[in-house]
Amino acid sequence: ARLLGRNQICVYAGAPDDEDPARLALETALRQALRDEQLELHYQPQVDLVHGRIVGVEALLRWQHPTLGRIGPDRFIPIAEETGLIVAIGDWVLRRAVEQAAAWQRAGLLPLRMAVNLSARQLLQPDLARRIEGQLAASGLNPRLFGVEVTESMLITNFDQAVQHLRALRALGVEISLDDFGTGYSSLSYLRRLPVDVVKIDRSLVPDATAPAEDVSITRAIITMAHQLQMKVLAEGVESEGQAALLAANQCDQMQGYWFSAALPAAAVETMLREGRQI
Ligand code: C2E
Ligand code: CA
Ligand code: CA
Ligand code: CA
Repeated sequence: ARLLGRNQICVYAGAPDDEDPARLALETALRQALRDEQLELHYQPQVDLVHGRIVGVEALLRWQHPTLGRIGPDRFIPIAEETGLIVAIGDWVLRRAVEQAAAWQRAGLLPLRMAVNLSARQLLQPDLARRIEGQLAASGLNPRLFGVEVTESMLITNFDQAVQHLRALRALGVEISLDDFGTGYSSLSYLRRLPVDVVKIDRSLVPDATAPAEDVSITRAIITMAHQLQMKVLAEGVESEGQAALLAANQCDQMQGYWFSAALPAAAVETMLREGRQI
């Protein structure tokens, strides 16, 4: 039986997920990927519309399998979540991202904030905030140049502990972003209870010039609401100049998307910054 959401259960005759051969093969391959260093981080620039420059990057996992080729995080993160492998992978991501950001800080590249996606399982670890604090201290990275992205659904299982982690990190100066905003059952009263600095509007809610006026109103309402709660707004998945202009006209603070840049290897980010590429 599988849960389909609100009180709907679908009973089906096939093998359960954990016996699906393709899935099992991917799980085994993923364990090996972690051991054999097939995983890599790419970094997608986040631009500030007020300052007109890159202010941060989001670390995004990339997996290059020796025979299967590139496998997207949308395919392997859910498997890693289910099997618990995400904890080891998440640790690796945190270490790599902090090391990279510390190297950029030493190189004096620009004040550039590194944002990392956390998973639900990581937030359930009682020592998560303390470990991140330790890693930041050991690397010498200014905590203000570090950020974490979480989604609302991740906070549900152990709300109090998750909020404690976020508070502790925030007290250090780490920026907290609420990811995929608008895709869940977000409510104003709920958002108000969360220690959040940035609301990331999901790309499904980023309108373009041809969007109906109602869509633009929703996006504008989210931006206004976030600003009233003293939060910044970053729009993700911005693919066109039209979208960027519409967002700017509606006081969106930051954006990220293919219109500006896809996620890039570290060296390409450095080149972009050295060449002083602006928006
Ligand atoms: P996300 O956190 O919502 O990340 C944004 C996704 O949108 C990324 O996909 C990014 O490459 C893609 N994207 C960026 N700009 C555009 C655009 O203009 N148009 C479109 N169509 N897409 C755009 P990606 O890299 O495939 O990652 C997918 C998801 O996998 C992420 O969604 C995140 O939930 C998860 N993920 C990636 N890396 C990690 C990680 O290190 N840890 C964890 N826990 N999850 C990760
Ligand atoms: Ca994210
Ligand atoms: Ca998203
Ligand atoms: Ca996501």
